[in-house]
Amino acid sequence: MSAHPARVAVVTGANKGIGREIVRQLAERGHTVYLGARDERRGREAAAALSVGGLDVRFLHLDVTDEDSVALAAKRLAEEAGVLHVLVNNAGVGGPMQLPSETPAEQVRTVYETNVFGVITVTNALLPLLRKAPSARIVNVSSAIGSLKSAAENNDQTGEHPPGEFPVTLLSYASSKTALNAVTLAYANELRGTGILVNAASPGFVATDINGHHGRLTTEQGARIPVLLATLPDDGPTATFLGEDGTPEGQVLDW
Ligand code: NDP
Repeated sequence: MSAHPARVAVVTGANKGIGREIVRQLAERGHTVYLGARDERRGREAAAALSVGGLDVRFLHLDVTDEDSVALAAKRLAEEAGVLHVLVNNAGVGGPMQLPSETPAEQVRTVYETNVFGVITVTNALLPLLRKAPSARIVNVSSAIGSLKSAAENNDQTGEHPPGEFPVTLLSYASSKTALNAVTLAYANELRGTGILVNAASPGFVATDINGHHGRLTTEQGARIPVLLATLPDDGPTATFLGEDGTPEGQVLDW
C-alpha cells in the first residue's frame, strides 16, 4: 500500500456536470480524488483535464449499476489507497416528464437502478474503506423535489417552481430522490457514532445535461453544498438535507 497523507475521496458520475466540479473543488482542498465514470475515455479525459497545478485527480472506472464494476473499483481503492475519507454519490439520471398515471413501472425501475440501487451498491462496497478512516463523510446528491413534505404540499420548498406547481410529471426522478433520502437516513442512523457522517445535498437547479442546461446555477455553485458536506468538521451534522440558498451553511430542507 502506498503512503497516502491526503484525504482520499471518490465522486461517482464525475466525468461532467456537478460531479466533475465536486472533484475539482475537493482536489483544490487537497484531497486525492478518484473521478468515477462509466465511460473510460470521457473519464480519463476529465481526470487529465483536472490534474493541473499539482491537483491529484485519478480516473476510476465505475458504473454504479454494474456490481462487477463496483467490486473492481473497490478492490483497486483497497490496494492503492487502503482507506477512504469521502464518498460522494453523485451519479444520477433523469426521467421522462410524464403524469404518474402514464408512467410505466419499468421506466421508474430504470431510474431507480442508478439513483437508488446504485447508491446502495457503491456505499456497501466502499464502507469497509470508509470505516478505516478516523472520520469520514458520505454525501448523497439528492434533489429538493425528492422531499416528501414538498410533495405533500405540492410545493417546491426551494421556490424553484411557483406554489401549487410541484412537478407531478417527474414521478420516476422525484420518487427516486425521495427513496434516496430514506436511504441516506438509514445509513446515517446505522453509522451514528462511528465518525462517518451521512448527509444529503440538493445542489439547486444547475445547468447541466440532465435538464438540457436550463438550470439557473453554474456547476461551481451547484457543487458548493456537496463539497461543504464532504468537508464537514468531525462535530458536523449527520442525517441532514441541505439545499443551496446562498448562505455558507446552506438551507436545511425538510425531508
Ligand atoms: P449530468 O447529466 O451532467 O451528470 C450525471 C452524471 O452521472 C454523468 O457523469 C453520468 O455519466 C453519470 N451517470 C449516470 N449513470 C451512471 C452510472 N450508471 N454509473 C456511473 N455514472 C453514471 O447531471 P448533473 O451533473 O446535473 O447531475 C449530478 C447529480 O445532481 C445527479 O444525481 C442529479 O440527480 C443531481 N441533481 C441535479 C440537479 C440539476 O439541476 N442539475 C438538481 C438536483 C439534483 P455519463 O456521462 O456516462 O452519462
